[in-house]
Amino acid sequence: MYEYGGPAVESLSMPGRMTLCNMSIEGGARAGYVNPDETTYDWLRDTDAFEDDAEQFAERRQYWESIRSGEDATYDDVVTIDADAIEPTVTWGTTPGHTVGVSEPVPAPEDLPPADRAVAERAQEHMGVEPGEPMAGFPVDVAFLGSCTNARLPDLRAAAEIVEGREVADGVRGLVVPGSQRVKAAAEREGLDAVFHDGGFEWRDAGCSMCLGMNDDQLEGDEVCAASSNRNFVGRQGSADGRTILMSPEMVAAAAVTGEVTDVRNLAATPEVAR
Ligand code: SF4
Repeated sequence: MYEYGGPAVESLSMPGRMTLCNMSIEGGARAGYVNPDETTYDWLRDTDAFEDDAEQFAERRQYWESIRSGEDATYDDVVTIDADAIEPTVTWGTTPGHTVGVSEPVPAPEDLPPADRAVAERAQEHMGVEPGEPMAGFPVDVAFLGSCTNARLPDLRAAAEIVEGREVADGVRGLVVPGSQRVKAAAEREGLDAVFHDGGFEWRDAGCSMCLGMNDDQLEGDEVCAASSNRNFVGRQGSADGRTILMSPEMVAAAAVTGEVTDVRNLAATPEVAR
C-alpha cells in the first residue's frame, strides 16, 4: 500500500488523487491511498449517495476522520519528491515506468540498472525513440483524451483550455472520450463538448475506447498515439505495432494541436496564439 501526502497531493482534486492512486500498482503497490480531508468530504457531499441526508453524512465523516493516519504512523519507507521540480512527464517506452521529462533526454539503456536494460532496448526499438534525444518534437498521429483515469471533469476542463481557439493539427485524429456518462453530461452542461468539436476533435460517448483498443477505436499499423490513458504496453491500443505515449490531458491537447509531443507550458504561454 502506498500512502500519498504532502502539499502537492493535498492540492489535488479528488479526480487527480484517483489518478495518482490508480497508478500505484505500476510502482508495486496493490493500492494507493490519500488521507481524507476537506477536499474528500466536499466531493463526497456532492455525490448522490448523501443527497438530503446530512445526518448520515455527519456520521460517516466522523468515521472517515477516525481512519486518517495519525501523527505517530510508521511506514516501511518514506520517499520525498519535490513536485515543483517535475516538468510535464511523458513515456518513452512500453511501460508506465518508462518516463522522462518532456525536454529531458531519453535515457540510454546502458545508463539504466542492469535488470532494466534489455526491456528498455526492446522498448526503444518498438517506439522508434533515440536515446539522448528528448521526446519533445516526436510526431503523433492520434490524440486520445480519454480513460476512466484521466478523462474526468477537471481533466476535460484543463484540456479544453488548451484547445480553445486552436485546432487539431493536419493529419492528427483527435478523440475525446469522457471517463463516465456522468462526466460526459457535466461536461456538456459546461459546453466543453463544443470547445472540442470546434477544435476538430471527435466528442464520443463514455467508455474505454482507445484505452485498450475497444471496438473500432484502435491504432493502425505503427501509428503513434498521445494518450491520457494509463497503460502503454505493446498492443494495448489494438495494433501490435502501435506506439503509445502516455501524458497528462493538457499535454494530449497540446500534442493534438501541434502534431507532436509538446511542452504544454510553452503553448499556454504563447501570446500570439488566438485563445
Ligand atoms: S480499459 Fe477502461 S476501465 Fe480499464 S483503465 Fe482503460 S478506461 Fe479504465
